[in-house]
Amino acid sequence: MKKLLFTPGPLSTSRTVKEAALEDMGSRDETFIQTIRFIRDELLTLGHVSKAEGYETVIVQGSGTFGVESVISSIIGENDHLLILSNGAYGERIVKMAVIHRLPHTVIRFEEDEITDPETVQQFLSQHPHITHVACIHSETTTGLFNPIQKIGGICAAAGKTFIVDAMSSFGGVEIDIKSAHIQFLVSSSNKCIEGIPGFAFVIAQKDALQTAKGRARSLSLDLYEQWLGLETSGQFRFTPPTLSMMAFRQALMELREEGGIPAREARYRQNKSVLDSGLDALGFSQYLRPEIQGHIITSFLYPDHPGFQFEEFYRRLSERNFVIYPGKLSKTNAFRIGNIGQIFPEDVQALVRAIGEIMEEMQITVHP
Ligand SMILES: *Cc1c(COP(=O)(O)O)cnc(C)c1O
Repeated sequence: MKKLLFTPGPLSTSRTVKEAALEDMGSRDETFIQTIRFIRDELLTLGHVSKAEGYETVIVQGSGTFGVESVISSIIGENDHLLILSNGAYGERIVKMAVIHRLPHTVIRFEEDEITDPETVQQFLSQHPHITHVACIHSETTTGLFNPIQKIGGICAAAGKTFIVDAMSSFGGVEIDIKSAHIQFLVSSSNKCIEGIPGFAFVIAQKDALQTAKGRARSLSLDLYEQWLGLETSGQFRFTPPTLSMMAFRQALMELREEGGIPAREARYRQNKSVLDSGLDALGFSQYLRPEIQGHIITSFLYPDHPGFQFEEFYRRLSERNFVIYPGKLSKTNAFRIGNIGQIFPEDVQALVRAIGEIMEEMQITVHP
């Protein structure tokens, strides 16, 4: 029986995307080489940039984190200093990378229910001129909030800093203009809003900034510059490529076009979110974030204040009905998360809301808003 994934990844994908991965594919096959080229170009187009304007796509085998770590470990020089803006688990993941790779770094932490405040960043940068790079999460999947990358990018550009954005859970599900947001490195992966199968991350980079990474890597397999050089010179990967997930991704990109591109996909995700919001509100659930900072990718709902509510049991009963939701990841508050992204449609969300209502009745949990 088909499970529907209301998670931040892995996500539900279309049957045709999975079918595109059925045929064995040699890494030197002309079809595969063309697929790499198509994917690298199409991703630039989705980010509203081009090779002619000096942007490049680098594909990195592995999950999304491999892409972020490839950037973080490859571009910060010995005399550079990285500023990490953190308001959730994914910001903290970048901090861990900086620690492991022994990078000179500083962290500004904001509360999990607050956005990274541009004014604080501006002030900090003006007082700390030795900062060279700034890293920020766009859609902080821990909570579902959207950080103001457009403003922070403007501040970084004015101060001459390199801006790195983890747009893992948002790229493809919301318009991001890489040039006008002054982003030098944007990272996302095959199995988020583009709706491919898992297998690789991709980095959209400004070529000039990418070229400064030459010889700076702290890892062989995650060397962003060498990975790019390989793709650029031979058109191939340095090590075994994720052939089948690339074939599925090509299909996913074509399906994104057929849907009407990013604006149409964003509209579907927003519709999913609106069905979810009104449905769970009617059942008495409260959300963790203020609506002004909440994005349309994933939502955190507080555990109902009722002794009969047990998340494990709630999750199990939903899963038995083939709905997969996601536990919370907040440091101080108990919440669960429901994603709106992937091959899910408003009628699927409606069915999820109905199932949640039934389960609340079975578990004899009444919530009064
Ligand atoms: C999903 C996600 C990642 C990457 O997670 P992987 O499990 O490595 O694919 C990184 N950052 C954010 C904000 C995410 O949502």
